[in-house]
Amino acid sequence: MNLDVNTLFLVTIYVEAILGLLLLFAWVQNTQITAVAWWGCAHLLRAGSIVLFGLYGNVTQAVSIDLANALLLLSYAVTWSGARVFDGRPPLPMYIAAGPVAWVIVAHLPSFAGDLELRILLSCGIVTCYTWLAAFEFWRGRSEPLVSRWPAIFMLFAHGSLFLLRTPLAAVLPWSPNAEVFESVWLTVLSFEALLFTIAIAFILLAMAKERTEYRHRTAAMIDPLTGIANRRSFLQDGNELMKQLYSSPCPTAVLLMDLDHFKSINDRFGHAIGDRVLQVFAEEAKATMRSGDLLGRLGGEEFAAVLHNAGMDKAVALAERMRCAFAQAAREVDSRPVAATVSIGMVVNDASPLDLPELLGQADHALYYAKERGRNRVEVATLDLVRHRGDAALNQETTLTARTAA
Ligand code: GH3
Ligand code: MG
Ligand code: MG
Repeated sequence: MNLDVNTLFLVTIYVEAILGLLLLFAWVQNTQITAVAWWGCAHLLRAGSIVLFGLYGNVTQAVSIDLANALLLLSYAVTWSGARVFDGRPPLPMYIAAGPVAWVIVAHLPSFAGDLELRILLSCGIVTCYTWLAAFEFWRGRSEPLVSRWPAIFMLFAHGSLFLLRTPLAAVLPWSPNAEVFESVWLTVLSFEALLFTIAIAFILLAMAKERTEYRHRTAAMIDPLTGIANRRSFLQDGNELMKQLYSSPCPTAVLLMDLDHFKSINDRFGHAIGDRVLQVFAEEAKATMRSGDLLGRLGGEEFAAVLHNAGMDKAVALAERMRCAFAQAAREVDSRPVAATVSIGMVVNDASPLDLPELLGQADHALYYAKERGRNRVEVATLDLVRHRGDAALNQETTLTARTAA
């Protein structure tokens, strides 16, 4: 391979500096994700360290070797800290300093001082530690579903592994065209890999920050901030999606509408803050009662809805009853106040051909009306009697409602 190592050095310095500035610019535009600033600084530090390596022969070795290596190791420590900050963990200054300081101290020990091989190995080992730690930090935060997290983990792990195989020769060796080592094809390959890695990781990290911002916006638009459950829009969207699936694989599905009883009076007697707590208690109890595949959402105010997938009449009534009792129990006292909140539930089970969610919610609303009328704190069931005319089931479907007391 005929790549000129000096040119590669120069290109690497420019690329590192430009990427560092690019990341800092991205951070200035959106200061919410501080990790981007850390990663920008890491690239600038790396650019600085390569400049110092390049000054070998023109400045003292304390600068072109010791300081250059310390900066290089510091840059990887800063990338690792960025990964910690990205997932909400604090940077650890002691560990950031540990690598560079350890290298400078150990490299001056008599057994290391004259042994270039050993010093390179030490430097590589430290870089590998920081790079693998950065990969580990991203892996720890994997519960946040960011697709770009996985290439970042892979890249960091692979680059760390290559470093262990002496990747950073390009960075830690003196810059001299006559030195024998520069004729090595291996060195050119490694320098090239380091350059490509630095470009790739900068873009992957930027993509992660962008994906995180989009994910947070999306989540904020779908989640009710008070209770942490789906809001109306998200509930209807997911519910409609589920209903569509039922057309291809039908199974009984229950739709529940829950409305807290005399909630206005709770607000009036105990204050809005306690009212808010009661809503949270309801959401917690409802979630705890439901199964993992079921949907729960806050439609607005003190009105909630649920879709129970694959639940026939008996199962759904039993679950609604459990939810009603659990809430009555949990809301007897809220924040040491005798609130005694209760919920009325109207439900409908759709075990014939699938209906639209808004239609089922309408039926459940009728049942809820009965529950309120018959004294509240109870479950009422609307029964669908589907009368179908031959040949045109969808168009000639008539729905009649009867309600029966379930509790
Ligand atoms: P019913 O048993 O017939 O359902 O009576 P209700 O008092 O529960 O029904 P109504 O619709 O009259 O009152 C609902 C109240 O819910 C009125 C409103 O102030 C209150 N509310 C709506 N959203 C919130 C909220 O986010 N927090 C609190 N604390 N109160 C809310
Ligand atoms: Mg109410
Ligand atoms: Mg209401």
